[in-house]
Amino acid sequence: MSLSLQTKEQVLKQYFGYDEFRPLQAEIIDNVLAGQDGLVLMPTGGGKSVCYQVPAMVLEGLTIVISPLIALMQDQVQALLANGIPAAFLNSTLSNSEQESVIWKVKLGELKLLYVSPERLFAGSFLDWLKDQNVSLFAVDESHCISFWGHDFRPEYTQLHRIRENFPQVPIIALTATADKVTRKDILHQLGIEEAPTFLASFDRPNLSLTVLPGRKRLQQIEDFLNQHPNQPGIIYCSSRKSTETVAASLQKSGYNVKYYHAGCDAAYRTQTQAEFLKDDIQIIVATVAFGMGIDKSNVRWVIHYNLPKNVESFYQEIGRAGRDGLPADTVLFYSYQDVAQQTEMIIKSELSTEQKNLLKAKLDRMKQYAQADICRRRILISYFNESVEKDCGNCDVCRNPRTLIDGTVIAQKALSAIARTDQKIAMGMLIDILRGSHNQNILRHGYDQLKTYGVGRDLRTEEWVEYIGQLLNSGVIDIAYDEGHAFKLNAVSHQVLREGRSVSLVQFVPLEQRKMQEIEAEEKAATKTKREIVRDALFERLRTLRKQIADSLGMPPFVVFSDAALSDMAQKRPINHAQFLQVSGVGEQKDRQFGEAFINEILAFIQENPQAVRTEKGQTYALTLELYNRNLSVEEIAAQRSMAVSTIFSHLQKLKAEGESIDLSKFITERTKETILDAAHQLKIPIAENAPIGPLLEHFGDTYQGWQLRLAFLIAGEGVRMDVEAWREERGLPPRPVKE
Ligand code: ADP
Ligand code: ZN
Repeated sequence: MSLSLQTKEQVLKQYFGYDEFRPLQAEIIDNVLAGQDGLVLMPTGGGKSVCYQVPAMVLEGLTIVISPLIALMQDQVQALLANGIPAAFLNSTLSNSEQESVIWKVKLGELKLLYVSPERLFAGSFLDWLKDQNVSLFAVDESHCISFWGHDFRPEYTQLHRIRENFPQVPIIALTATADKVTRKDILHQLGIEEAPTFLASFDRPNLSLTVLPGRKRLQQIEDFLNQHPNQPGIIYCSSRKSTETVAASLQKSGYNVKYYHAGCDAAYRTQTQAEFLKDDIQIIVATVAFGMGIDKSNVRWVIHYNLPKNVESFYQEIGRAGRDGLPADTVLFYSYQDVAQQTEMIIKSELSTEQKNLLKAKLDRMKQYAQADICRRRILISYFNESVEKDCGNCDVCRNPRTLIDGTVIAQKALSAIARTDQKIAMGMLIDILRGSHNQNILRHGYDQLKTYGVGRDLRTEEWVEYIGQLLNSGVIDIAYDEGHAFKLNAVSHQVLREGRSVSLVQFVPLEQRKMQEIEAEEKAATKTKREIVRDALFERLRTLRKQIADSLGMPPFVVFSDAALSDMAQKRPINHAQFLQVSGVGEQKDRQFGEAFINEILAFIQENPQAVRTEKGQTYALTLELYNRNLSVEEIAAQRSMAVSTIFSHLQKLKAEGESIDLSKFITERTKETILDAAHQLKIPIAENAPIGPLLEHFGDTYQGWQLRLAFLIAGEGVRMDVEAWREERGLPPRPVKE
């Protein structure tokens, strides 16, 4: 198979159906094609695969992809095959005979990409054997696994230096989504490609919206969210196994299509649940962080964190599972001070060294900063990864609803005073009860109703107090003793506020309902602004249903048939023939061949059933008529399907013909009809010309023929005989044609 004459752009279009490369992809590919090694750092969903899959198709020979994620190999190969790229994998899940068949394909040069696990690569004499095959490129996926410093070290990866030793001439491209500086250096070193350039893509994922919601009434808020995002697949992350089960159960009760997933579930259940999610059979997964590794599902539309993650790295990795197709996706984090308290307590009570504890606390602190941000949240996230951010993102809740600051000095003083008067022994619940003047037993028993501060905070509702006290804790105005039942403590700042009138500013409390309304409005505004929004109209839903049917019949996940991005583009462009279908982003030649007809038919059916939905875009209406004509429908049938007058369709066809489309108008009229009409015209002395007056003829025939048939007869006759109107008039002794009718 020799495909080496194709350019990278041609390959991208023909096999992947994309018109242009994303930032850095082209540079990376050029580097590989020049025979150079390289290290690629791109966030999840950034488009790493294209960086070696395109070169694989441009280069002659075989590309070997080394990946530790055995479970993913099959999916990746399936996706490549669906794009018409010959690929296979070799790992321990294959039987001997299956392996044998793959080996044969390699020998025969039938494959362009071969995925192997590192174990398989170094087993027996495989590497030696490969030397005799025409290997053009090695791609090391998840290359951070090579490093002790990476978070996912795999001992098998330490042997990868043997690639360079055995294949000094073959370029190596290493790829990863996570690697700090130390790990990066280690990857290059261990692979023996120290001199290779590093391509560092931005880690920003602008398509992910960022929202933090107060951790109150979480279930209710989730249901509201789900109702606003019907049918969209998503993941809810919880911090404990138990809560995945309870949250899933309660959503199930409300009628949602949901399952839970955690490391404690048995293997069969986990495999099945994961598969159901991939196939869109399950809409929602409520899971611990155990879920997600090795999930390549590109159409996860949202990720919700029920609890605060332990650190920004995990958070970013988890939300990164949404919107891998580059289309807008939503992320929501629920945040409450209790979550921080709980996690801090866990760290303190753990068996770790003080140093380790401090590290974990510092990381949690950064996560807290994100949750509490009064400035653009993306700035905080991105700067965490040492990238600088030029401007506010416009796609986080803070950008959408800038915070209002209020003078919170008096509020702070009330709280601090109550803490002081109770000898710094009380925690959140009691503090608020005192401030709000509650009559509960505990208050009375302790005599707290006698305090001077009892009831001084009645002007604020409980949830307002929760919010403000949380803010005071977070800004260090109040301390908390995790080892004393979370009792509040005063510190130096507290005393300054209490005694010296140090001022405190707080972010104004916004009731949940109001906040939600603001969010929805802002989101709608933002949606109309973003270029690449998802069209989720009736057609999209029909195409989605069709995708699911086709995927099921082929035993594939729907997103392998077409990504949401492709489907959305399809719903916008409404292609009705193959040339148009190939214009859809994500449709390469193979997918056009395999799925084009079914999707085009669905679009045609949709247009026929919703004629009003056909946009009056220039050209679209002609193209549709042409398509139906090419499908051998009669003028009447086309008119009926399009709910248009026959004469309109006829004029379409005439125009299409004038523009050079090959249209045989004579098939819409029998020879006899034509003759009858022309004879009558002769008798009535009507010129056989395109714009001849046909009124008298219509009268003559009554209901027998319609205007378009008369004109059609004239048109065909005019063409056949090339009749000159003036000559015809002269012949009959008629005066020259008047200039205007
Ligand atoms: P990663 O491996 O970095 O997580 P993928 O390679 O899976 O990312 O790519 C993520 C998504 O982006 C896939 O759906 C892929 O088809 C799409 N994609 C990649 N490159 C392009 C491109 N140049 N134009 C449009 N979509 C692209
Ligand atoms: Zn922002």
